[in-house]
Amino acid sequence: MMFFVSLVIVLIVGDLGSTFLYHIPQHLWFKLHLRTHHDRNRSYWDHAILSKDPEILLDGLLGALPYIVLAIPFCFLGPWAAAGAILGLVLGQLHVWWRHTVEIGWSSPPWLVRIARIFQIVLPEDHNGHHVNPDIEFGDIFRFYDAPARAILTYVRSVQRRRRTALKRLERIRALRAVRSLRTTQRA
Ligand SMILES: [Zn+2]
Ligand SMILES: [Zn+2]
Repeated sequence: MMFFVSLVIVLIVGDLGSTFLYHIPQHLWFKLHLRTHHDRNRSYWDHAILSKDPEILLDGLLGALPYIVLAIPFCFLGPWAAAGAILGLVLGQLHVWWRHTVEIGWSSPPWLVRIARIFQIVLPEDHNGHHVNPDIEFGDIFRFYDAPARAILTYVRSVQRRRRTALKRLERIRALRAVRSLRTTQRA
């Protein structure tokens, strides 16, 4: 029982943490993940799996950190909990490799697509969508994180846009005021 609990928690809560504490903030405010994982100058099979470039490894490690942090306490809850947590980490890593295989020719058979849709598991084809258009297909392992992730992105971006137009308007008002006060001083 503890085996499955820790396995499922490491994967589901780990993906929650990784998506909302790392992946989305990176897409909104930072450059590391966009510069490495979404580098269009190389194949993503190369930069997600093969590369030993320190920046690429750092992006991978930061994305994996929520899973690892979650797995640690389970390792002290007895052998079954520890085994489940470690299997969770192993499956998570295998999924990283697997979800980047479209580029080297992976194509999911229909029966697998059906199973993946039932359990909401991200297929390589789904994650390929995130590389084609970085604004879609969030959630690294589970697809149910995609909708809330996109909602957060859209919301934060609209707030950013509104703030930018408000600042621009303010600048224009200030400039107008400066011109007006200049005119009155000239007249006087
Ligand atoms: Zn990827
Ligand atoms: Zn991304």
